[in-house]
Amino acid sequence: MRQVVMHGPGDIRVEDREDPKIIEPTDAIIRLSATCICGSDLWPYRGAEPVKDQVMGHEYVGVVEEVGSEVRNVKVGDFVVGSFWASDNTCEICQAGYQAYCVHRVLMGTLGTQSELARIPLADGTLVATPGMPEPDLIPSLMAASDVLGTGWFAAEAAEAGPGKTVAVVGDGAVGLLGILAAKQLGAERIIAFSRHADRQALAREFGATDIVEERGDDGVAKVKELTGGLGAHSVIEAVGTQEAMMQAIHCTRPGGHVGFVGVSHDVAIPGDELFMAGVHIHGGPAPVRQYLPRLVQLIWDRKIDPGKVFDLTLPLDEAARGYRAMDQRTATKVLLTL
Ligand SMILES: [Zn+2]
Repeated sequence: MRQVVMHGPGDIRVEDREDPKIIEPTDAIIRLSATCICGSDLWPYRGAEPVKDQVMGHEYVGVVEEVGSEVRNVKVGDFVVGSFWASDNTCEICQAGYQAYCVHRVLMGTLGTQSELARIPLADGTLVATPGMPEPDLIPSLMAASDVLGTGWFAAEAAEAGPGKTVAVVGDGAVGLLGILAAKQLGAERIIAFSRHADRQALAREFGATDIVEERGDDGVAKVKELTGGLGAHSVIEAVGTQEAMMQAIHCTRPGGHVGFVGVSHDVAIPGDELFMAGVHIHGGPAPVRQYLPRLVQLIWDRKIDPGKVFDLTLPLDEAARGYRAMDQRTATKVLLTL
């Protein structure tokens, strides 16, 4: 099969690799219908994380091709979506809704899903089958549910977005944009998006943003305070992962408010005195996307949401290197790879 491999920073190649096989009786093999490149794939691409000969990708939708002898919940021919953590969905941590921390979890990025086929561990817990074979135009949205939509949704819930709330969103990448969509679905009254890019601002508005702030850092914080009667937002989503973004998020939040952070943290250090004086709740980390999948799949199936709009470049898998370059240079927000 064809599979994307990152041999080192900036070095993406699509190679012929051995097809995956069932290893555990709880495994399934899927044939991917689409895959995509994640903002987090850019950290090793840019040399900000060590990388050598690593198979890539952790987002996936596709058709079940083979199941292990103990798999009961999905069958050959089902169209399925799963999250970037494989999880049993039965342990105490999963039952509490934190499947990203399942005691048996497997990080899909270690197996790679930017490929024609993928082995999915713990298939019964990990995979959610759609009601039938999706129309082709639904595939980008189902793909988004695998990570960026579920992650944005978790961020909005962690920030306690809801009716009567003002939500601010730091980060206008795919996760930030879908955090806006989630906040809107959860009933937020006002949604302030930080963005400097005209095309992303337009999508933010389409997903539910009511205000756009172009300033960053302290100037951005001042702007949010100005828009909220000097108080700050009730709920703030941090979807970047840098020191500036995290402090911007904390400082935008009113006392007693909530920060939901899902940007993969890189060298973020919150000064204790600032945290102490902020008086805000902070919750986040790797999103338990699996918790939200049944609901998200249904919303997409019923065409109530269209998160697939975050994909602004579609390329065949063999042109993955071009896709990485486009995301690195920010000429694309998110790249869909077709098979
Ligand atoms: Zn579990």
